Amino acid sequence: MDAPLTPELKKELAATANAIVSPGKGILAADESTGTMGKRFANISVENTEENRRTYRQLLFSSGAEMPKYISGVILFHETLYQKAEDGTPFVKMLQDQGIIPGIKVDKGVVPLSGTAGEGTTQGLDGLAERCAQYYKDGCRFAKWRCVLKISGTTPSYLAITENANVLARYATICQANGLVPIVEPEILPDGDHTLETSQRITERVLSATYKALMDHHIYLEGTLLKPNMCTPGQSCSTRYTAEQIAAATVTALSRTVPAAVPGIVFLSGGQSEEDASINLNAINQFQGKKPWKLTFSYGRALQASALKAWAGKGDQIKAGQGAFLGRAKAAGEAAAGKYGGGVSGAAAAESLFIKDHAY
Ligand code: 13P
Repeated sequence: MDAPLTPELKKELAATANAIVSPGKGILAADESTGTMGKRFANISVENTEENRRTYRQLLFSSGAEMPKYISGVILFHETLYQKAEDGTPFVKMLQDQGIIPGIKVDKGVVPLSGTAGEGTTQGLDGLAERCAQYYKDGCRFAKWRCVLKISGTTPSYLAITENANVLARYATICQANGLVPIVEPEILPDGDHTLETSQRITERVLSATYKALMDHHIYLEGTLLKPNMCTPGQSCSTRYTAEQIAAATVTALSRTVPAAVPGIVFLSGGQSEEDASINLNAINQFQGKKPWKLTFSYGRALQASALKAWAGKGDQIKAGQGAFLGRAKAAGEAAAGKYGGGVSGAAAAESLFIKDHAY
């Protein structure tokens, strides 16, 4: 039998996971791949160069003393992990000095699953142990791996559900052995006209398979975090639902499938507008029901859309971009505490951030 995790390592993993979900704090997902950054920049007519990506990430990470009040961790892309601020300070140090935990995206993207109706799995296991060991040495304490599932009349298939659950479990094992808390992300895309009830039913199926695989692979659940979609109606569903209905569906699905040993659930924003992502997270935290885990955010688009728009690549708009980012971080942080009153404005606060068949 392979050596289990030592008590010291378990203690460290649990401490990291718990620190990330400290009350009123969550994660900034700034791990967009180079290609995805290109799409974000194209919207604001900024060229997708390494220097522009560095400048933009510096804007976020140096946004000010308010940032660590709401942001406990930042997920980085490989390139960003090794970049520095203008004054030569490595980004990793900049984050650590603010008490923010650096994390790293370790998957290598979605590839087609042969014989399915357009479904996929996520690659990146080859060499993962060596990469995780190096990332730990370079200051990372948690990792992210995104799997994608789709809702249609025939999907997600049994194959897609079990394959993605298994690959998430393999990834989680490798992370934990190397001191990184695995964020387990089985994202069900919002594409489609399905109802809220269907979203809840499929989320329960996917999460139960995910935790079956994590248990089969002897994952130390206290040293993990889950990054799921909220249960929301499909993007083109004609029925409208309230935040309270979305919260009830989401918490019910989670309470049926996610073990109480998991310290926290960090939702992705999944194409919701910045404001909806905050309002819905707030409703989730206000929902009266069994909630043995922290419920917070790990948003990409819903923390950055207004910031990108306000900055627009202009040297004299850095402060404006930072202000917009901090406004959203505060809203999300308050929502994580169930205390968000709504109404934070921003250049893109109400804009749908839906992207068809979203790749990261
Ligand atoms: P969104 O919040 O933009 O959905 O992205 C979060 C993320 O990290 C997806 O992997």
